[in-house]
Amino acid sequence: MDDQKLCISCSQFLNWVPAGVSKKTGKPYNGFWACPEKHPQKKPAYQNPNPPSAKAFTQSLEADFDRQRNIIRQHSQDMAIKALELMHKVDPEGLMQELEQAALTAQTNILNAVILQVKKLSDHFDKDVSGK
Ligand SMILES: [Zn+2]
Repeated sequence: MDDQKLCISCSQFLNWVPAGVSKKTGKPYNGFWACPEKHPQKKPAYQNPNPPSAKAFTQSLEADFDRQRNIIRQHSQDMAIKALELMHKVDPEGLMQELEQAALTAQTNILNAVILQVKKLSDHFDKDVSGK
């Protein structure tokens, strides 16, 4: 009985009371877990220090994190596209040259170069947003 249990009412660690004989009734009893506050414990519904719900909780946190992550990513992509639009407005030839250079470097066509550029800018804004 070296594992630890928590009270189902107050979540304090339970004390293991070894088997003995009741002073009141004179009857033998099995060992049991007892709350320091004397909350009745339902066998076998003791809280475990690592209840299965902890996993569900972690998963819900991870799902939340993923949702936030996707929102940030989406936001970064919007910013990247806006930045490209702005570059195109300010210096269309410069942007074109940059994209052609990027296409050459990555050995791909202009459209893929645009996508790569959006990805690169997204990463850039992503880092800004997430502070990495
Ligand atoms: Zn208790």
